[in-house]
Amino acid sequence: MTEIESPELLEIDGSFGEGGGQIIRSSLALSLVTGRPIRISRIRAGRKKAGLLKQHLTAVSAATAVGQAAVEGAVLGAKELTFIPSGIFAGHYRWDIGSAGSTTLVAQTILPALLHAEGSSQIRISGGTHNSLAPPFDFLASCYLPLLHRLGPTVEATLDKYGFFPAGGGQLTLSVQPAPLRGFDLMERGKLLSFGAEAVVANLPLGIAHRELDTIRRKLEWDKHAELKATEVKGPGPGNAVMIRYQYEHVTEMATGFGQQGVSAERVAADAARELKTYLGSDAPLGEHLTDQWLLLIALAVWQTGKTHQFTCVPLSEHSTTHIAIIQQFLGIQVSYKVIEPHKVEVTLRPD
Ligand code: ATP
Repeated sequence: MTEIESPELLEIDGSFGEGGGQIIRSSLALSLVTGRPIRISRIRAGRKKAGLLKQHLTAVSAATAVGQAAVEGAVLGAKELTFIPSGIFAGHYRWDIGSAGSTTLVAQTILPALLHAEGSSQIRISGGTHNSLAPPFDFLASCYLPLLHRLGPTVEATLDKYGFFPAGGGQLTLSVQPAPLRGFDLMERGKLLSFGAEAVVANLPLGIAHRELDTIRRKLEWDKHAELKATEVKGPGPGNAVMIRYQYEHVTEMATGFGQQGVSAERVAADAARELKTYLGSDAPLGEHLTDQWLLLIALAVWQTGKTHQFTCVPLSEHSTTHIAIIQQFLGIQVSYKVIEPHKVEVTLRPD
């Protein structure tokens, strides 16, 4: 258990920039790590259903437990939240989102804090494991966690059960072993080690998965070296995801397509292939999603070690620029970026 003093309340505008759930999750993560109490107002103000949804509320509950925090406004639909952590408490935790809301996004809310705890933790989260507009479990395990491991701590991830929208019912388990963070520069992908795709179906014909894999093989003009896998799983409802993976020496990236009623398997796969082609159109190691997630981790390493670090990525999304603003607000570090090639941006994080 790490006890932290309670400094002045930091005001966060939840409608700023991208204005979505990430502002809440990252603010909670940074509040826990720095011990800074926060008030978030205008939560998800621009969204069709504004305020806290179930997934965000579970992230708040998780952060509340890990920080033994005093909280005001933790109710469904809330537009304002006050969060005052009293420390970082390692332990065995279990949360159920109670919908198909993303378990990986809840995990990413409390992981940065648990990396700083004094002991190891085990967390189990139930809900969705393969959701559109969120990292699928495989992205967490194959892309995000390997980078986190290079910072020092170890996080073992297990997918216990698949959960798709709208039925949910999935579950992941994470074992977290903290260690002091050491930063590193991530400027190149390194050699391509392997590439391939996995298509998963739950309570749907396996033929859907094969059609998706065929489409991807054609669209990306793959040869016999591609690793292809069609997987059939059980679950409370139907679901389908296709994940395209490129594993390089220094990074693994993934583009994902999610099956939807009324959208053909070929369309789902072609959209994912297009996203992957955009990544291949640059030689930067970090793609759009991994960039906004990596920013928080490397910023914490810079903040802790007092050393400057850099990375290169594809052009920054609004998620990333919003994230940069929040990180600077909490950590007081300098984050600058410049376009160095048409599809490549260099980001530098300097301690204050
Ligand atoms: P809101 O409903 O308010 O838009 P949210 O809580 O669902 O927000 P966002 O703020 O949009 O979440 O953040 C979503 C996070 O999921 C971002 O970090 C984004 O990069 C990540 N993400 C989205 N799609 C993928 C994907 N296919 N692979 C990996 N990460 C993804």
